[in-house]
Amino acid sequence: MKIIVTGGAGFIGGNFVHYMLEKHPEDFIICLDKLTYAGNMETLADVMDNKNFKFVKADIADRDAVYALFEEEKPDVVVNFAAESHVDRSIDNPGIFLQTNVIGTGVLLDACRKYGIKRYHQVSTDEVYGDLPLDRPDLFFTEETPIHTSSPYSASKASADLLVMAYHRTFGIPTTISRCSNNYGPYHFPEKLIPLMIANVLNDKPVPVYGKGENVRDWLYVEDHCSAIDLIIRNGKVGEVYNIGGHNERTNLQVVKTVLAELGKGEEMITYVTDRPGHDRRYAIDPTKMHNELGWLPQTKFDDGIKKTVKWYLEHRDWWEHIISGDYQNYYQNMYGDR
Ligand code: NAD
Repeated sequence: MKIIVTGGAGFIGGNFVHYMLEKHPEDFIICLDKLTYAGNMETLADVMDNKNFKFVKADIADRDAVYALFEEEKPDVVVNFAAESHVDRSIDNPGIFLQTNVIGTGVLLDACRKYGIKRYHQVSTDEVYGDLPLDRPDLFFTEETPIHTSSPYSASKASADLLVMAYHRTFGIPTTISRCSNNYGPYHFPEKLIPLMIANVLNDKPVPVYGKGENVRDWLYVEDHCSAIDLIIRNGKVGEVYNIGGHNERTNLQVVKTVLAELGKGEEMITYVTDRPGHDRRYAIDPTKMHNELGWLPQTKFDDGIKKTVKWYLEHRDWWEHIISGDYQNYYQNMYGDR
């Protein structure tokens, strides 16, 4: 199969590119990425010379560029990871979230319609379901839970999901959607909770925690997310939504304490900061459908995943230090010029 992976220079897309090249050497992967601040070519450095891989620098919202790529490559599958993904940034500047997450998804779907596709897969988020109260641990998001968004980020992702469903129903595009809980693991941009903490601790800086750190998230090791998407694009039913989660709920404070312990530090590193406006209280995914229909189960326990993640950041200090210093933004030009 020829697979376009959009957003493959980002966190999950980058892990997915590595996962697919390793697991399916019979497939050909084309990464389409605009290289925003969140896209990092150092994440893809070790696959640039792989004969089954090609990188294309382009914006998913650039219709001409996307059509030209489809015309040239005639892909079998598109997996759309490309997005503006940071909730805090969507509160500061919602416009770019609409442009990439909604318009960009629309352009990709139009390209599928014009050139044909065997599968279009939209990588979505559990945040489209809104949040759950902290005092109802019996409640979970299922695929039938109504969309009820809180932030401009989640509203833009939900809008994209609705477009995907509409293109399936109206134009018969063979689509699937997955909605996953919070990921953690290698190549995670150090503005997000876990890598931010690790980088701060290693630089002897305090670790910021929103409010009292009581918000609950369901955490999944990124490789488990990749294996779930791989299964969905091969065996998932067209037109369906699949929830992906680890049944692994932790308060933010628990996560912070686990990472601090792994780094041999204590709570004195924590500094509590003013809570994010509209901060969702609890996300909790019911992944029963993934298990029953596709036989998927997460393989990595949280404590093991955190150990692996901390080890990766310790061993790849250059990778995240280049992000903090901003050097990664010159890397593409220095290494690949106009390619
Ligand atoms: P990320 O911010 O690390 O990476 C996003 C990538 O998309 C970057 O490489 C960036 O350069 C690229 N990109 C942004 N705008 C683009 C555009 N207009 N055209 C082409 N490329 C563009 O994001 P992530 O955390 O890896 O998330 C990937 C996807 O998974 C997103 O769609 C996100 O909504 C979803 N998701 C993330 C999580 C999580 O925990 N991180 C959980 C559930 C779902």
